[in-house]
Amino acid sequence: MIMYVKNTAKTNDAKAWEKLFSLYPGLEQPIRETYNDPSSARRIYMLTPTKTRSEQKPDLTRLAQTLYLIPNLLWIIIEDEVKPTLRVRKILESFNIPCVHLNYPTPSYLKITANQSYWRKPRGMLQKNIGLDWLRNNTQPTEDALVYFADDDNTYHWRIFREIRKVQNVGVWPVGIVGELLYEGPVCTKGKVHSWFCYVFRNRQFPIDMAGFAIHLRLIHSHKDYYFNVSADSIGQQESHILSTMTTIDELECLANDASKIYVWHTRTIPTYLTSEDRLKRARLSYDLLEEVV
Ligand code: UDP
Ligand code: MN
Repeated sequence: MIMYVKNTAKTNDAKAWEKLFSLYPGLEQPIRETYNDPSSARRIYMLTPTKTRSEQKPDLTRLAQTLYLIPNLLWIIIEDEVKPTLRVRKILESFNIPCVHLNYPTPSYLKITANQSYWRKPRGMLQKNIGLDWLRNNTQPTEDALVYFADDDNTYHWRIFREIRKVQNVGVWPVGIVGELLYEGPVCTKGKVHSWFCYVFRNRQFPIDMAGFAIHLRLIHSHKDYYFNVSADSIGQQESHILSTMTTIDELECLANDASKIYVWHTRTIPTYLTSEDRLKRARLSYDLLEEVV
């Protein structure tokens, strides 16, 4: 049974936004809150490493569609590949949002082997380092802008980007579904962090996920030799390491309404086993992979 069908027929209405707002009143809020927000003059540089996996295109699609709601954001995508692929370029071009497409291949000794737990190897760190280099070579240290490390399979509410734009030096907020809890995050009063809510690896100085903080661009320039470490003992310590290098707990700015709101979730894309591909191979049958592997 069809409950409700909107008339979405295209007309030559000059006021397309007003038309959209009347069709979808819920759209008005993100547009007004983000595009009309004076702080949107402060640019966000969002660094996203992305590895080749069958879920890569759907993940990037979801993320790109979120980014339509965010003004003045430059999306720096760093592919884990020997050169930028046509596959990712095409998907980025299809959205036509401001982005920079870079690449850096993870050497094989740092890649997770089939029988290894995912947390045994660094994930996307060398790619983030390429993003740091790009920022240092292509932006001015005087620019009032923010840097956010955003993995391709997380889920971002449009309001997280408003929180990022409030950051003066380093800002922190809770992250959902992480650390084997519904959320982890700073415990704050009046914008200051006094402790952390987390369970696993709680001996870290800054026990927080990569999605739970943003840094002013100035700090990326002033710590010009800072790179993420990929040695075995730095796994799980990267967030704590960059934060302890660039700030102190006392200096942290606690956002998301004193850490009472969750606007980003560490959702994880798990591998889908394409088992029937093996069956096809065994039967000496193949199928057209379309453009999926180009
Ligand atoms: N990634 C990468 N190379 C790798 C593994 C991961 O570029 O060898 C990227 C991946 O696309 C994602 C980020 O690094 O944007 C974090 O990886 P993943 O989501 O697999 O890690 P987790 O969520 O488990 O921390
Ligand atoms: Mn992830």
